[in-house]
Amino acid sequence: MTKKGKGADRYWNPVVETLAPQALRELQLKKFKRIVKWAYERSKFHRGLYQAAGLRPGDIRSFEDVAKVPKVEKAMMRDIQRKDPFPYGDALCVPLEEVTEFRQTSGTTGLPVYQPDTWQDWEWWSEAWAYLLYAQGYRRTDRVFIPFGYNIFVAFWAGHYAAEKIGCEVVPGGVLDTEARVLKIQELKATAMMATPTYVLGMADTAKKKLGIDPARDLTIKKITCAGEPGASIPSTKQRMQEAWGAKVYDHVGATEIGAWGFECTAQPGGLHVNEALFLTQLEDIETGELIEEPGRKGKIVITALDRMAQPCIRFDSKDVAEWAAAPCPCGRTFRLLKGGVAGRADDITKIKGVLVAPSAIEEVVRSIRGLSNEFEIVVTKKGDLDDITLKIELLPEAEGTRDLILVQLKDQLRLKTNLGYNIEVHPFGSLPRYEVKAKRFKDLRKLA
Ligand SMILES: [Zn+2]
Repeated sequence: MTKKGKGADRYWNPVVETLAPQALRELQLKKFKRIVKWAYERSKFHRGLYQAAGLRPGDIRSFEDVAKVPKVEKAMMRDIQRKDPFPYGDALCVPLEEVTEFRQTSGTTGLPVYQPDTWQDWEWWSEAWAYLLYAQGYRRTDRVFIPFGYNIFVAFWAGHYAAEKIGCEVVPGGVLDTEARVLKIQELKATAMMATPTYVLGMADTAKKKLGIDPARDLTIKKITCAGEPGASIPSTKQRMQEAWGAKVYDHVGATEIGAWGFECTAQPGGLHVNEALFLTQLEDIETGELIEEPGRKGKIVITALDRMAQPCIRFDSKDVAEWAAAPCPCGRTFRLLKGGVAGRADDITKIKGVLVAPSAIEEVVRSIRGLSNEFEIVVTKKGDLDDITLKIELLPEAEGTRDLILVQLKDQLRLKTNLGYNIEVHPFGSLPRYEVKAKRFKDLRKLA
């Protein structure tokens, strides 16, 4: 009989996932010093940045010293890649011939950022995803369907390899159209899936309307891992997905420049664990930059990938906003929790009529009201000196009879949850734009006016 440690089958890495917080901090500091030294010695960009700040790797001795290391932003990465060596630029820390993976960011605005990884980095990518998939209950018995062509974007490649690493059977569902993907899931009795929230909902709609298949009743998907949008951390959107598929839906956060740094576990604690074995995730006050350690105070997420070597990600300003949860997670992991996941991009959280609003708060309200379709659009404009906010929604055909009641409920909830009044436009069912992968539902037209 083999002797298994406590929780050996509950955690991907039972040792680090249950380390005492102090031991985790020590591990992070050790790795942080190593990656800063590595970047300083090998990348012209990092050495220049640190020298300009009067910083040498030996200056980092304690956790407090981490804040002395200058932050890096996406815009800086775009400038870097105009330099040699082509096409990545001078943040590269390894000879070009050691790079085995090319990926690029998938954002819809601005130039994409290229991302080089070595084979060792690639192992690290799938390791980070293995933590998250295992925490979401993926095991050797799962047959995982991925309904995307992965192309030059990293997320589902890493999900694919990590699922294999765990021992799952993986079905790559690219090239097929949505109907063919649904039929493939049915044919193969797939048990798990990875997709964006927009696509999870869109696929269920297509299955019902075009194929007469009710995913919750007729398909065998039991867990869905979401990526790319915050939907799986927005309670009402999560509930819609879970009901449509009869499955547990879990969130995860990551970025091409950083890695897969946060995940929800099967306890569904209303938040995301940060992977503290592979990343150093810090929250900083949006205005003062002060480090936030206490729960309940929102801050900007600044992240270091502690083991990513080809193009290091050190104190990357993610522009995402979050807050620490007060209580530890019942799953037993000591990795800290971000309450409610990532609240939104600092860039998207905007002042409307003098009130701070995150588009995700409006999504939470719309998706919580029965009788409204999954689609909506928010348009902010300026009328004279005043902000004007319009919310476009669709009523489900079967809800026409209770239209007035639904609109009253919607207006009340919006005022309660966001402190704003809206112009509500009801559009015919099926007329608002449908999105394939990532949705663009928030349009701020004030700057154009
Ligand atoms: Zn947990």
